[in-house]
Amino acid sequence: MKYVSTRGQAAPKRFLDILLGGLMEDGGLAMPESYPQFSRAELEALRGKSYAELAFAILSKFADDIPADTLKALIDRTYTSAVYCNGRADSNTVEIAPLRTLEPGLHLLELSNGPTLAFKDMAMQLLGNLFEYALEQTGSSLNILGATSGDTGSAAEYAMRGKHHIRVFMLSPWGKMSNFQRAQMYSLQDTNIFNIAVRGMFDDAQDIVKAVSNDLEFKRRYAIGTVNSINWARVSAQVVYYFKAYFAATRESSEKVSFAVPSGNFGNICAGHIARMMGLPIDQLILATNENNVLDEFFRSGVYRPRKTSETFATSSPSMDISKASNFERFVFDLLGRDAEKLRELWAQVDAGGSFDLSGTPDFARIAAYGFVSGSSSHADRLATIRDCFERFGVMIDTHTADGLKVAQAHRKPGVPMIVLETAQPAKFEATIREALGREPERPAALRGIEALPQRVEVVDADVDAVKRLIVQHAA
Ligand SMILES: *Cc1c(COP(=O)(O)O)cnc(C)c1O
Repeated sequence: MKYVSTRGQAAPKRFLDILLGGLMEDGGLAMPESYPQFSRAELEALRGKSYAELAFAILSKFADDIPADTLKALIDRTYTSAVYCNGRADSNTVEIAPLRTLEPGLHLLELSNGPTLAFKDMAMQLLGNLFEYALEQTGSSLNILGATSGDTGSAAEYAMRGKHHIRVFMLSPWGKMSNFQRAQMYSLQDTNIFNIAVRGMFDDAQDIVKAVSNDLEFKRRYAIGTVNSINWARVSAQVVYYFKAYFAATRESSEKVSFAVPSGNFGNICAGHIARMMGLPIDQLILATNENNVLDEFFRSGVYRPRKTSETFATSSPSMDISKASNFERFVFDLLGRDAEKLRELWAQVDAGGSFDLSGTPDFARIAAYGFVSGSSSHADRLATIRDCFERFGVMIDTHTADGLKVAQAHRKPGVPMIVLETAQPAKFEATIREALGREPERPAALRGIEALPQRVEVVDADVDAVKRLIVQHAA
């Protein structure tokens, strides 16, 4: 499989060539040159397979430059119940990504049973093993630098902890995360994990990461890399659970299902789009946003207008608080019939701080053909949905999943199973659960009392050179 750039001006690459990188050389995102296809008969042959078997059947098409037995071993080591089934307080399941039925025709796909209680573990754990393998092949090492306000940073640290050839430098805003989030990250004692708390806001931390990455000499010298959501391996690993859920909700491959996806950077739902392009019988892909509705606005109107940071709200589903959606370019590439020149024109406007409008074009008409619809919700909607779900089904959901469920309800069709992707556990968002239900969410046994564990963190001013000095000191 070769990967081309959405901007059409970079040489095609293989999976291992794009694994550790970020953007393609022309500033675009990597996309498979064509989508592997699964016929009805091939789909039927996958029914009943384990999560790891499904992952291998799908990912071996994308990562065909890794020897098959090696890839299989990496996948088998990743997708075990020891990694993915110990994060749930109220269940003894040993199944990875189980489907929980709320009522006939309405299901939750549990993606947050991994070590950090958010769906990002589903792909990030595999990324840790893939990175370690790739670095072993070349005999090199990597210093991962990132900024986090919560979920991504902890998922990355739990995926990379103890890995050979990899160090993680994760910046977080000092005093701005919940006690639980802080404890989750800062209590890690692995010597390859460095928590750096920056005196400032998340945006200050993000700006430092950008400044360090833009210092090309420093970046090369200290082998600085990232694990952000545009990483193709992450997107492709997320395709797997759409297949898993499909088989769990249907009896045979003439049936269709719909998925509702709480969305921020468009990584999760992009994987759903790809699953559909590979032949998975999906009726609707339902994109759900919170008050930061830049994507909902596009799917309703055809106008994509990224927000300024000052126009971005802090909400009670914080992992969806985005101003622009970094994976969206992948989807628009397909929407434009893979016309890279046209895409370059649109993103020239976006990169200059502007917007674009596809309404009334044949390209925008493809949205309906792809089955995309959207909706958004408010804090009050989330509270009502959490309450309603708990009262009617006895199931406690988190604020992001509530965004998904709320929008899903508006798009249900008779005879088509609706699957809401559960992206985090309520234990991560205690304050809003208390507000909605007047009680505390349960916490998985392994995470009880983590606030009392010793923490490892270095606090610095929001200063690029201070962060560089720490990297130099620890990478030496
Ligand atoms: C990251 C995240 C999202 C958004 O996913 P995208 O792939 O960025 O669209 C939604 N919910 C939770 C809990 C997350 O951590």
